[in-house]
Amino acid sequence: MSGILYLVATPIGNLEDMTLRAIRILKEVDMIAAEDTRQTIKLLNHFEISKPLTSFFRHNEEKKGDYIISLLLEGSNIALVSDAGTPAISDPGEELVALAIAAGIKVVPIPGCVAAINGLIVSGLSTGRFTFEGFLPMNKRNRKERLEELRNEKRTMIFYEAPHKLKSTLADMREFWGNRKITFARELTKIHEEVLRLDLDAAILYFEENPPKGEFVLIVEGFEGEISSENFWENMTIREHYEYYLEKGEERMQATKLVASDRGVSKREIYKELNG
Ligand code: SAM
Repeated sequence: MSGILYLVATPIGNLEDMTLRAIRILKEVDMIAAEDTRQTIKLLNHFEISKPLTSFFRHNEEKKGDYIISLLLEGSNIALVSDAGTPAISDPGEELVALAIAAGIKVVPIPGCVAAINGLIVSGLSTGRFTFEGFLPMNKRNRKERLEELRNEKRTMIFYEAPHKLKSTLADMREFWGNRKITFARELTKIHEEVLRLDLDAAILYFEENPPKGEFVLIVEGFEGEISSENFWENMTIREHYEYYLEKGEERMQATKLVASDRGVSKREIYKELNG
């Protein structure tokens, strides 16, 4: 009979957040697959757990995945952990789970911390409906597409971001979405834990004065306005508005005319903006 794949959540800072069940499962399994074995050894030492470890990170996910599945099929129980928080949430694991399911292996979650959810609940923003967006794409074109796609998203949006990219991400959000409420949940569960509830304009100024340090969850208010055919272009620049019509198949002249008519300005003004 095949073994069980356990997805074990670990703390996102404070080791007291390790659950009793997570400790027991890590003590009982035959092997632990870890994103970074050096990081996981520290955790295991703290809880006096001694187990064979194997590395499982993004770049060996495919090869290592086959190996882990073969052990599971032979009957081993294996726990997957990431560096912090819940595996498969902006961390390796998703593909391994898919492989395990395809091979008929039982997959069991061992619940615990997710930075996103903890950021959301202290944000002060609506928790009724939300969307987890993880990291925005780094590739310029994909990033622009994602930001555009989210422009009219009404649900609260949750993002992860590295400190050195935070300022440019805020500038992009401001450009594509206009000013909105945003909460920063920084260093959750750690000594320097901090929650900043600002809007994008204030945040851009704040981080100019206080360079971002540590780990951040960004919780952004959803689009508040009415989405109607009349105001879909409201947060677009003139060029984006024009390109929107080109992508819909309009000729250049017609696209210019439509942009001018939507905005209640003359075609001349639109030409000037596009060619100036
Ligand atoms: N699997 C993890 C989880 O369940 O939250 C997320 C891993 S992802 C690679 C790392 C990102 O999570 C960081 O860049 C940051 O955005 C967020 N994060 C992790 N720990 C955090 C903490 N203690 N405080 C705030 N954000 C954190």
